[in-house]
Amino acid sequence: MTLALFQMCIDGQWVDALDGATFESLDPSTATPWALLPDAGEADVERAVQAAQHAFDNPAWRGLTATARGKLLRRLGDLISENKEALAQLESRDNGKLIRETRGQVTYLPEFFHYTAGLADKLEGGTLPLDKPDLFAYTVHEALGVVAAIIPWNSPLYLTAIKLAPALAAGNTIVIKPSEHASATVLELARLALQAGIPPGVVNVVTGDGPRAGAALTRHPLVRKIAFTGGAATARHVVRGSAENFARLSLELGGKSPNIIFADADLDSAINGAVAGIYAASGQSCVAGSRLLVQEEIYETFVTRLIERAQRIRIGSPQDEASEMGPMATAQQLAVVERLVAEAVAQGATLRMGGKRADTGSDGWYYEPTLFECDSQSLAIMQQEVFGPVAAVIPFKDEAHALALANDSQLGLAAGIWTRDLGRAHRLARDIRSGIIWVNTYRAVSAMAPIGGFKNSGYGRESGIDSVLAYTELKTVWINLSQAPMPDPFVMR
Ligand code: NAD
Repeated sequence: MTLALFQMCIDGQWVDALDGATFESLDPSTATPWALLPDAGEADVERAVQAAQHAFDNPAWRGLTATARGKLLRRLGDLISENKEALAQLESRDNGKLIRETRGQVTYLPEFFHYTAGLADKLEGGTLPLDKPDLFAYTVHEALGVVAAIIPWNSPLYLTAIKLAPALAAGNTIVIKPSEHASATVLELARLALQAGIPPGVVNVVTGDGPRAGAALTRHPLVRKIAFTGGAATARHVVRGSAENFARLSLELGGKSPNIIFADADLDSAINGAVAGIYAASGQSCVAGSRLLVQEEIYETFVTRLIERAQRIRIGSPQDEASEMGPMATAQQLAVVERLVAEAVAQGATLRMGGKRADTGSDGWYYEPTLFECDSQSLAIMQQEVFGPVAAVIPFKDEAHALALANDSQLGLAAGIWTRDLGRAHRLARDIRSGIIWVNTYRAVSAMAPIGGFKNSGYGRESGIDSVLAYTELKTVWINLSQAPMPDPFVMR
């Protein structure tokens, strides 16, 4: 089969790696190569960062008003809308996500650019009510310079958009390193950025391997901020790399999110919410509701009905509109799922459903929706992120017990609460140590709503009204109003 050929975007040019190195990207639904991409090395990263720094210093970008930057972002959002079907098809092909999901995500994607465009010219500084009558001071939010964005494979367009839009709104330039398993749509986004009129060098994309291209980017002295989404082990490398030059960091890491179902919940909705939480996107979602906490009174009914619903999930080609679960995005991720399932069985968790590859008649990396029953939260399957379609369910007695179980985790990205009791919903929303709480819904996303984690799920927030501020420096400017000579130089004024 002929491979689709991609090049990187550096300084507005479409280029190969300087040493000509390439790598193949595999189609998760067939486990066969479908695309060939440049494998960037340190020299390519150097070229991209220099281009971004040059663009940052260039009046073609630096000289734009914030309103003009907002207009460019709005235009980029419009172009995404015009190209949404092609982008949705490409992302589905590249990372194996269902076309019905990529279509939904890409249809919403322009909102991130339109909303953030409106924030670009609202970064107001302040005048300070100083306690020194002869002095006047004000603050200004300024761009940082070159930003590095490091992206995982599960939702490349969405996870790039929530970094790219605020970084550009604030006036930064960017070098994006998408996952080596799913780079195609990020490259297309760079093409649309150029088409929108964003000057060359403002948006650069280097493709390649994490320990090589990604690590070179995190250590680069011109990179002033790293916005990272990915796994905790990789994040530790990124934090160490950032220490070289004290680059600012935002880390969006994984979760082991509790989805808590009370006996008074609307059971039909809660079952759909549980399915949405863990089997949608084959569980390859940072906010996956992988810990199901179910109140004792409804525990048996819930488990029986969840299994009955999950066994009806249509597993099949991501490009088939009827499919409800597609493949795992990478062979490595499939191997991780298989290993963690085997460990859970060995540790005594009760396998109620799934636990093996799905037979679809293809060589793709399909895995069955899987459910473990656990009587203790100490089992690894209750503590460790799987990033696959594997849920662990445990009963609880009352609200206090549910809260204790929910917070018994090193991770704190999201939580779901299913109840008709308003007071209880608010109490738990207050007391659960997670960055996102969904009540009687799950996996809702908006350009206006911040996302990010507590505890080992990372730090920093993306999306929402403060997202642009996270890409700025605060400068304080002092003006002497007095006509008197400068006072005693040896005393702090
Ligand atoms: P990963 O950590 O393996 O890779 C993420 C990115 O880091 C990739 O681009 C990779 O090439 C790069 N990378 C790898 N080694 C590097 C290094 N030494 N230096 C710099 N960059 C390096 O993650 P993944 O397997 O692509 O994605 C799955 C993980 O991402 C899961 O743990 C999941 O929870 C997390 N995730 C979190 C969110 C969120 O918003 N919180 C969203 C999606 C995924």
